[in-house]
Amino acid sequence: MKSRDRLRIAIQKSGRLSGPARDLLERAGLAFRESRDRLFCFGESLPIDLLLVRDDDIPGLIADGVCDLGVVGNNVLEEQAVAREQQGLPAAYAAVRQLGFGGCRLSVAVPQEWEWNGPADLAGMRVATSYPQLLGRWLRENAVDAEVVELSGSVEIAPRLGKAEAICDLVSSGATLLANQLREAAIIFESEAVLVAPAMACSAYATASW
Ligand code: ATP
Ligand code: ZN
Repeated sequence: MKSRDRLRIAIQKSGRLSGPARDLLERAGLAFRESRDRLFCFGESLPIDLLLVRDDDIPGLIADGVCDLGVVGNNVLEEQAVAREQQGLPAAYAAVRQLGFGGCRLSVAVPQEWEWNGPADLAGMRVATSYPQLLGRWLRENAVDAEVVELSGSVEIAPRLGKAEAICDLVSSGATLLANQLREAAIIFESEAVLVAPAMACSAYATASW
């Protein structure tokens, strides 16, 4: 990794975590000059700049040494960490701190009329998700042989479209599930926003007094 004289923090450009992440940095005394393309914000109060990106890109930016810190949902971080592990790659980053916002859970949900008896119900079924790694790991842990159908969005309508029998998606209030005649059957991962740093830097952050 090239050394830089300014720190670079990656946060979500627009979405659920962008407002709380900006507030957090502001409360820490950081002020930024907005650039026209709003991708890069120059830090005016300290030598700390911001990169505004899609949340899915944040783990990779940390792994590649493009950014020194990031704010991202632990669900995204863990999904990509499992993918790296599956490819035999070493851990490149780690969560150094939970941030207390962006709380949600990754859950398996089934049509409301389904009498849920446990993970074994999914044997031979298709489960739609944007989190194939976390779902795959949970299915393996429960020794369930189900087909993982990867979708990038609108996972909740997959059963109605005949693409899958069940889904695995992020849930906070449960309103989206209810609106789609689905009910939460099993929580497979609990998440919140975390501060992520390169694996090499993590021991230093762990010993820092904050
Ligand atoms: P991007 O355009 O950056 O890829 P996105 O659509 O993937 O955005 P958002 O929907 O803004 O992401 O969600 C960002 C994060 O917010 C999630 O990864 C998760 O950690 C958290 N989150 C909290 N509650 C929910 C929820 N009910 N549904 C989805 N994500 C939630
Ligand atoms: Zn995303």
